[in-house]
Amino acid sequence: MSVLVIADDLWSRLRDHLLADREERAGFLLARSAGPRLIVRDLVLIPDDQLERGTDSVSVTPPALVDVMNRAVREDMIIVEAHSHPQSWETVRFSDLDDQGQREMVVYLADVMPGRTYGAIVVGQSAVAGRLWHGRRWTPLDHVLVTGPHIELWSGDGSPMTRNSRASVRHSDRYDRQVRAFGQQGQSKIARCRVAVVGEGGIGSIVTVQLAHLGVRDIALIDADRVEESNLNRLAGATPSDVGQLKVDLAEVQFRRVSPVASICSVPEEIRTESALEAAQSADVLFGCVDTDSGRLILNELAVTHAIPYIDCGSGIDAPDGRMSAAGGQVVVWVPGRPCLLCCGEIDRAIAAEELESEDLRAFRRGRGYISGSDTPEPSVISLNGTVASLAVTEFIALLTGFRPANHYTYYDMFNQRVGQRLVKRNPLCFTCSTEGTGDSANVKRYSRIAVPMDLPA
Ligand SMILES: [Zn+2]
Ligand SMILES: [Zn+2]
Repeated sequence: MSVLVIADDLWSRLRDHLLADREERAGFLLARSAGPRLIVRDLVLIPDDQLERGTDSVSVTPPALVDVMNRAVREDMIIVEAHSHPQSWETVRFSDLDDQGQREMVVYLADVMPGRTYGAIVVGQSAVAGRLWHGRRWTPLDHVLVTGPHIELWSGDGSPMTRNSRASVRHSDRYDRQVRAFGQQGQSKIARCRVAVVGEGGIGSIVTVQLAHLGVRDIALIDADRVEESNLNRLAGATPSDVGQLKVDLAEVQFRRVSPVASICSVPEEIRTESALEAAQSADVLFGCVDTDSGRLILNELAVTHAIPYIDCGSGIDAPDGRMSAAGGQVVVWVPGRPCLLCCGEIDRAIAAEELESEDLRAFRRGRGYISGSDTPEPSVISLNGTVASLAVTEFIALLTGFRPANHYTYYDMFNQRVGQRLVKRNPLCFTCSTEGTGDSANVKRYSRIAVPMDLPA
């Protein structure tokens, strides 16, 4: 699978340039590799005087091409060539001349930039087709994810944006009441969006059930824990006979009951493991429903470095003597360009570092009274979790259907019965924000090999 991820402002600039009029135009995307994704970092739009026009094609002059290649080598970027077929509307595909040009290109690149990935896209009015040259063969582009306060999903095979699932969604009544709210296109986007939910506890289990009813069809469920008796007050759908089962198995069974056609990938692992990180990094939208600072730290870093739209949920109750004095929660929607969770003050780095320590070291330090966090269970109530889960799924709907821009920081105050937004600015010194879109080079997988990485974000 391969996904091209591009911010909405870059995507608009690219389309405005390529589709300015009826003439074919060209440009290059400079991208970083991030697991199955290519994250576009910059554009090089080729002006008309650096194009050579044939009768049925357009190519870039050699000096302009050499400039782009030098820059890609200097900045360790992957080149994706882009050109337009402005006369193609509903569908678009590479022409025979395009095929031939790309065949010659990869032969040339094997010589001057051996071993590097190369990509090509052709852009029509309402469709995109693409492919990647990697490991000496072409792989079709699965889709283009355009990120911003609402996200777009374009098929990568040149078919219309909504074709993949339009038929099956239209012919059933089950989404009729939602189609009346989001339109056919909004419902199709929900069906095509690949989602990962990390944490199948009090909030995550409710988020998961809501996503199943909403029409999500491609989901990864990630949690290493098993159901305990003390979870039965809040774990959606859990019964006494589920005690001892993996939480992801319970979530999968429930998802399947609501949505028999769904593709579900259950990962009974901690988020820091390689398999969990891989499942999470292939999502178009990531839900973080974890109750640890270390889990948030890793998810935040994964989302920011891999440019994955990330919806983080949390709730908390203060009840020092068994009497509530404060309670509430928050939902943070991170998309590229927004302040990360560290900027929002949602992660305690010292507690995260302790949680990441090996069990042996933790036990040793606990014995000597050096553990600052407490191992006493926190209070948790289903109605509060349900409110936060619903706020989070509403932001997901906003991201996909665009009925309004997804909010950055939403809080819920259970005592004063208030939902509001908090304005957060990016910390100019935030290390994690400085690594936005750097992809594989950020090496998030080090968490699977090293207990507490030396370069833990400050
Ligand atoms: Zn062409
Ligand atoms: Zn930040």
